[in-house]
Amino acid sequence: IDDPVQDNRPRILIMGLRRSGKSSIQKVVFHSMNANDTLFLESTNIIIKEDFQSFIDFHVWDFPGQLDFFDPTFDTNAIFGEYGALIFVIDAQDDYMEALTRLHDTVTRAYRVNPNLFFEVFIHKVDALSDEYKIETQRDIHQRTTDELADFGLEKVSLGFHLTSIYDRSIFEAFSKVIQKLIPQLPTLENLLNILCANSGIEKAFLFDINSKIYIATDSSPVDIQSYEICSEMIDVIFDISEIYSKRTSTRNDSGMSQSIKSAIQPTTDETASDASSLVRLHNDMVLYLKGVNRFLALVCLIPSDNLEKHGLIDYNFQCFKQAITDVFDLKRLSIERRLEEDI
Ligand code: GDP
Repeated sequence: IDDPVQDNRPRILIMGLRRSGKSSIQKVVFHSMNANDTLFLESTNIIIKEDFQSFIDFHVWDFPGQLDFFDPTFDTNAIFGEYGALIFVIDAQDDYMEALTRLHDTVTRAYRVNPNLFFEVFIHKVDALSDEYKIETQRDIHQRTTDELADFGLEKVSLGFHLTSIYDRSIFEAFSKVIQKLIPQLPTLENLLNILCANSGIEKAFLFDINSKIYIATDSSPVDIQSYEICSEMIDVIFDISEIYSKRTSTRNDSGMSQSIKSAIQPTTDETASDASSLVRLHNDMVLYLKGVNRFLALVCLIPSDNLEKHGLIDYNFQCFKQAITDVFDLKRLSIERRLEEDI
């Protein structure tokens, strides 16, 4: 569909050698596939362009490893020309020299087409490596890549390195970091979350993209992995419960989300969106609180249970927060539409 507003979405390209784990990452993050089931995935051998419908509206292009995408018949402008990030997956359990050559080649060429691309290296499958070896591998890959790029005069390239595995939350963490770089409104979102936390006695708050369980923003207190895990599991739990007990017969749709949770978190009108909410008391006197923001986003917070006495205040503050989020993204949409009108 040629929708000019939609085409303004940031694009995420996933590349890497064959068997590096590209399809597995995509299935686990965007289709809620169980990590163990990826053992039976066919390796990517065609370009898969996936339009993943989420709040972030990004495209994922999964490129097969062995393909020579710099073949003159390929339109490199169309592939690299847009605002977005290129994720290069390296299998850390394998000898990675060939992958590094390919990475350097890809970065140098793509940078020439689009110097604004973010390059993100996923040092992947690190679940089998010891902590020491992980750090050493990351240091080695970082060093070799920056040296190689410096030789080509490309010191300014924006490069990020992430240790990832589909067997834990690290792959989601890495995606969160990549996506946060692509959201121009991030400082505003963080600010709004800070204000919400400070005024409502919330200890930690994450704004999640429901479909992928990637958090797109959090308040500025440090992220500790346990709080993050429990908050992201909350989305899973609600999903499972609603799948089992919802009145509707729930079937997973393409995005891996059941119809039932969609109807809970994606109400038909914006006025009822705030209805989606859930609360779990933890044994350590903390409360996990989930609130639907709109059809793509949910806020998950950790609140000391004493502070929950001010339930009304929290709910009121949340309403203000929700309105502010809607305003922030509406402004962006309006400015894109205005720009398009001017272009016509
Ligand atoms: P592709 O060719 O790049 O799309 O690679 P695949 O996604 O087909 O993955 C190749 C193999 O790597 C599969 O057997 C996956 O189960 C395995 N794999 C993917 N990610 C991980 C990971 O994080 N850890 C481990 N141990 N294996 C992984």
